[in-house]
Amino acid sequence: MRLILLGPPGAGKGTQAARLTQKHGIPQLSTGDMLRAAVKAGTPIGLQAKAVMDAGGLVSDEIVVGIIADRIQEPDCKAGFILDGFPRTVAQAQALDTILAKMTMGLDSIVELKVDESALLARIENRAKETIAAGGTVRADDNPESFKIRLDAYRQQTAPVSAYYASKGTLRTVDGMAPIDEVSKALDKIIG
Ligand code: ADP
Repeated sequence: MRLILLGPPGAGKGTQAARLTQKHGIPQLSTGDMLRAAVKAGTPIGLQAKAVMDAGGLVSDEIVVGIIADRIQEPDCKAGFILDGFPRTVAQAQALDTILAKMTMGLDSIVELKVDESALLARIENRAKETIAAGGTVRADDNPESFKIRLDAYRQQTAPVSAYYASKGTLRTVDGMAPIDEVSKALDKIIG
């Protein structure tokens, strides 16, 4: 099963992807997590990506497409995967189509979590508070300044990705304002 979860920062993609991973035994491929791991490890990609990520901008298509192209060829992706945070631009979506076509693979479901923009900042602030309470380190981009830029990037570069899949007739939407369990149920219905 190959899935894409779309939606703005704070929509709950990561939460739902983690649940789907448990349920279906397929990996969650979060480009955000992979890039943060690269930053932490100080790899060349991490060094290149850090400043733009901290500020809330998007890393280059070339870098993230390269990361995903390699990752989906790993053995644990044979039975499928959940893409979380990718594709984030129409160019990335087109590159993904090309990669999958070469592997003679398709996508099973593309689901957008719809959330009111006015709820997003509070969710991000809440995540930061919970992280601190759990003794963790808050993401460098989970602050109001970077969030504003992340939301702008979403509006300008990622919202067109939903339109791209909608025009192919493959986009489904779920109400991401509903409680977490309700969102999971709605996703289960679509995914089957
Ligand atoms: P969010 O919670 O905002 O959805 P992520 O954890 O998915 O955040 O990503 C954090 C940051 O990593 C993004 O703001 C961006 O800088 C970078 N990033 C992640 N995925 C991509 C991508 N597909 N294309 C470009 N940049 C990305």
